[in-house]
Amino acid sequence: MAENILVIGGGPAGLHAAIELAELGVNVSLVERDTFFGGNPKKFKYKYLFPDLQPAENVIGELIKGAESNNNIKKYLSANIESFKEDGKKFSAVIKSSTGSETKTFDSVIVATGFEHFDPAKDSKYSYQLFDDVIDIKDLERMMGEGNFTRPSNGKPPKNVAIILCVGSRDRHVGNQYCSRVCCTVSVKQAIELKEHFPETEVYIFYMDIRTYGFYEDLYWKAMEEHDVQIVKGRVAEITSGPDNTVICKGEDTLLRGPFEIPFDMVVLASGMEGGPQSPEMADKLGIELDEHGFLKQANVTLSPFKSNKDGIFLAGACTGPKAIADAIVEGGAAAMDAYIYAKKNS
Ligand code: SF4
Repeated sequence: MAENILVIGGGPAGLHAAIELAELGVNVSLVERDTFFGGNPKKFKYKYLFPDLQPAENVIGELIKGAESNNNIKKYLSANIESFKEDGKKFSAVIKSSTGSETKTFDSVIVATGFEHFDPAKDSKYSYQLFDDVIDIKDLERMMGEGNFTRPSNGKPPKNVAIILCVGSRDRHVGNQYCSRVCCTVSVKQAIELKEHFPETEVYIFYMDIRTYGFYEDLYWKAMEEHDVQIVKGRVAEITSGPDNTVICKGEDTLLRGPFEIPFDMVVLASGMEGGPQSPEMADKLGIELDEHGFLKQANVTLSPFKSNKDGIFLAGACTGPKAIADAIVEGGAAAMDAYIYAKKNS
């Protein structure tokens, strides 16, 4: 008899896990809280993915198509896990969706509930939501995904743009001491896209450290050498309104050791990644642990990164910490293998 495995979360990691399991003949129940599959890349209409700038739609669309066309995957949208309990070596869950509630028994479970973008409104110095032209990384990604690179305030091309890194990350003041890993590379990618669209626009990136790790460093050099993006080591302490419908970034250039006060047409806040409300909800319902940063805790970061603290419940993707989409997809496959082995042993 085929194994039954529950996958919670229909973003890149969850979709890939579900498809891999279904290919092995497993009966998969894929539960997604939103009305669509694809996670944050779909929700915020990501345009291009780093490092190779391939259209996000090609990657996410392919995963969605793979899950939708596979009859071994029972799809639940606008759904959640209403209740969950252990049943010997198995698990029993009530899945609630728009079509009603269903109680099912599973041999193992994969949690792939992803992340939330940090809300920059939580840090008042950035004046997010105060000025139309102060947006964040996901707003710009959505605008670009819709083919709109212009200023929100007047629909005109920006003459200059500031991109501010480490918003909501590496910042004890907001409670997130960790680095979100991907925002440097996403910001450099967005700077290149802006310059390709508006070559005359001046683009500045204000950074504490640039962490375009591994091969992503190529984008950093490309931004500076081919697109003349200005990369400034400095901290922005305040954003205020300026003359002629501009916003002023005030801060300190930490290399030149001097203050700056520059009016910009548009400011983009590179807001980081958080575990979001779904992580504590999953921890509570499934009886698994959270780490000190609010993400789901891996049993052993090095030896068993896809296991939770509870036998039979596995973790994949950004629910365990900030990571790139490519890494989340890899983790979906790895967690699928762990969940399959556990199910096979115990079914
Ligand atoms: S990836 Fe870059 S922008 Fe993001 S938190 Fe780390 S250093 Fe800051």
